[in-house]
Amino acid sequence: MSWPHRNQLPKASQAWGQLPKFLLAAILIAILLGPGGCASSGAAMVIAEQGRARCTIVVGDRASEVVRFAAEELQRYLKRISGAEIPIQAAGKAPAGPCIFVGDSEPLKALKLRPAGLAKDAFTIKTAAGHLILLGGDDSATQFAVYTFLEKYLGVRWLWPGELGEVVPRSRSVAVGAIDEIQQPDFKWRNRGPGGALWGAAEGPTEMRARERLLGVSAAHQAEVALWEKRNKWGGMKIHGGHALGEIFPPEKYARSHPEYYALVGGKRAVPGPDYDYKHAGQVCTTNPDVVQVAIQWVRSFFDAHPDHDGVHVTMNDGAGFCECERCRALDSGELVKRAGIDAEETKKTAARNTVITDRIFTFVNQVAEGVQKTHPGKYVVSMAYSRYITPPRNVRLHPFVIPQYCLWSAYRHASPAWRQEHEQVAAGWAQAARRAGIYEYYINGSWPGLHRLVVPYLSASIKQLKRTGFDLYQTQSGDDFAINGINYYVAGKLLWDTSLDERAILDDFYGKGFGKAAPAIRRYHQRLERAWTAATADGTDVACQSLRATRLPELFTPELLRQCRRDLREAEQLADDPLVRKRVEFLGPGLRYTELTVAAVEAARKLEAVGVRLFPRKQALEDFRQAQRREDVSKLLAAALDAWQQRERFVEQLKDDYVVAYFWVKYNEVTREFNPLPQLKEMSR
Ligand SMILES: [Zn+2]
Repeated sequence: MSWPHRNQLPKASQAWGQLPKFLLAAILIAILLGPGGCASSGAAMVIAEQGRARCTIVVGDRASEVVRFAAEELQRYLKRISGAEIPIQAAGKAPAGPCIFVGDSEPLKALKLRPAGLAKDAFTIKTAAGHLILLGGDDSATQFAVYTFLEKYLGVRWLWPGELGEVVPRSRSVAVGAIDEIQQPDFKWRNRGPGGALWGAAEGPTEMRARERLLGVSAAHQAEVALWEKRNKWGGMKIHGGHALGEIFPPEKYARSHPEYYALVGGKRAVPGPDYDYKHAGQVCTTNPDVVQVAIQWVRSFFDAHPDHDGVHVTMNDGAGFCECERCRALDSGELVKRAGIDAEETKKTAARNTVITDRIFTFVNQVAEGVQKTHPGKYVVSMAYSRYITPPRNVRLHPFVIPQYCLWSAYRHASPAWRQEHEQVAAGWAQAARRAGIYEYYINGSWPGLHRLVVPYLSASIKQLKRTGFDLYQTQSGDDFAINGINYYVAGKLLWDTSLDERAILDDFYGKGFGKAAPAIRRYHQRLERAWTAATADGTDVACQSLRATRLPELFTPELLRQCRRDLREAEQLADDPLVRKRVEFLGPGLRYTELTVAAVEAARKLEAVGVRLFPRKQALEDFRQAQRREDVSKLLAAALDAWQQRERFVEQLKDDYVVAYFWVKYNEVTREFNPLPQLKEMSR
C-alpha cells in the first residue's frame, strides 16, 4: 500500500535526523499502532500531521448525547496526543477529505461502509476508502469503539480514575494502518456494583453512591470513577437492585393492612418495626398468592418507569427471618445448609433454621417472571442466589426469564483449592439450572474496609472458569480503593470484556505503560502483597475485619512485609525517570500508609485488650476500662490506642476524593462491624 502525503512528513528530530524519511514514518506508525496494527502495510489513514488535523470527526446530525460525548472524547485525546484539534461535524453529508465516523450517520450510510448485522453490544473499528469507522450496535458500544481505538491503536490507558491514571502517548503525527475488526464482550453485564445490602433507608439513602455523597465524597469524584469505568468498558446490560423487599413491600404501605404478607416466624408475622432498615429482615411469605401479585405489579411499574432496563431484582432481604408457614416449608427440598463458609454471615447465626430454601424462593421468582412476561416480554426478573438459597434448586426448573445471581464468596478465597472447587461446583449447578446466570462477586465488603487484597491470579481464573461454565453476567461489590486494590478492578474489567486475554500480558502492559523504568519495583510490590495474601488464606481461612478481636490483620501484614513494601515503593521512586511516573508511584504511597496505620491501630487496641479492656461491645469497654484503671494505670495504653485510631481517621478523611481508599467501605465497616473502637476510646479518655 502506498504511503499518503509522503512529502508532508514530519521533520525528523535531531536524534533521528539521519534516518530516511520513509523509514522514520514507518517507525512512527509502528509506535502508534501498538500490537494490533501493521506498519508494513503503510497507513490507511492519517489523522494528524505535525500537530495539524488531517481529517474530520463525523457524527450523525441526530446523534445522541452518548455518541456526541464519544466523539468529543476522541477529539480530546487526539489533541492531547498530537496537539491537533480535529473538527467534529454533525453532518447530513460527508465533508471533503478523510473522516472518522463515530456512530451511525447519513454520510456513512451513503458511503455504504457500514458493516451489516452488527449485534447491539458489538462494535467495529474499520478503515475503508481512506476513512476510519468507529461504530457500535448501539450508542454505548460506539463509545466503547472509541475507547478501544484510543487504547489499542494509539496507546492510551486509563489505569485508575483521574488524570494521573491516564497514559497518553505524545506524537505530533498520528496515522493508522489498515484495521478491520469487530469486538463483542464475553460478559454482557460488567458492573462494579455494589448492590447488596447497604445502610438502611431508616438512616438515609440505601444506594452506595447516594450514601457516599452524604458522607462528603464529591460528585466530581463519583463522575470521574463512572467515566473510568466507561473508558475501561464496564457496562453492558442494565439490571437494577439487590435486596428488594423494602422497595416492593414497604411497611408503611402494607404492615397494617396486610400483616399476612410478611414471614411467619415463631408463630407470629414478622412485620417490620420502627428499626427496619429496608434491606435486612422484613422477609415475606412467598407462597401467599397476593404477595406474588404485588411483586408482579411492582416489577411491571418498574419497567414502565425504566424501559431501558433489561432486568430487575426481587431478591429477598439480607439477614434471616424467612417464613416458617406450612405452605412455604412444603416447597423446601429438605436439604440442610452445609456450606456455612459460602453463605451469608447471617446464616451462620441462625444455625437452628438451616434448611435450604432455594426451591421455594425460585418458585416465587418464577411466578413473578411468568406474570411479567405477559405485559413486558423479554424483561428479566433477577434474584440473588444467596444465604439459605445459595445452592441450586432440586425440584424447580427456572423460568427462561429468571436470572439467578450467584453470590460467589469469593475469588479472594480461591487461594484455597478446596474453596475454589466448591464454588465451581455450585456455580456449575446454577449455570445448568438457568438459561442465563449471573455472578455477584465480593472484591470488597463490610468486613474488609479496603486494605490490600491483591488477587489477580484468582479473579482471572475465576472469570475464565465462569465464562466456560456458561455465565455471562458479572457484578462486583467494589470500592474506590484504586491506590490499593485498583489492579484487581483493572484486570477484571479487561477480562470480562475478553476472557481470552492473558492476565500476565495485561499486567505487563499496566506496569510498563504506567511505571516505565519503575515497573519492576511496582510489580514486585504487588507480587509481595499477593503472595502474603495467598499464604494467609491458602488453608481456607479468611483474613477479615469482621471484628477487632478476630481479625488476623497484623498476622498478615507483618512488620517485615510492610517494611519490604515501603522499600519497593522507595526504590520505584528512585527508578522513576519521568515526573509523571514519579507521581504515579507517589499515588500508591498513601494506599500503603492506610494499611500501615490500620495495622498499627489494631495492635495498639490489642494492647489495651491484653490488660482486660474488652473494646466491644461499647458498654463493656467503659466498664472494663474503669475496672482496669483500679488495678493499674492503663492511661498510657489508652492514649496510644486513641492516638493510633485518630491518626488513621484523620488520614482517611483527607483521602475522600483521591481514589486512594474505599471511603464508603471504611465508613460502612465502622458502622456495621465491631472493628473500629474509636468512639469508645474517646469516651474512655474523657
Ligand atoms: Zn409462608
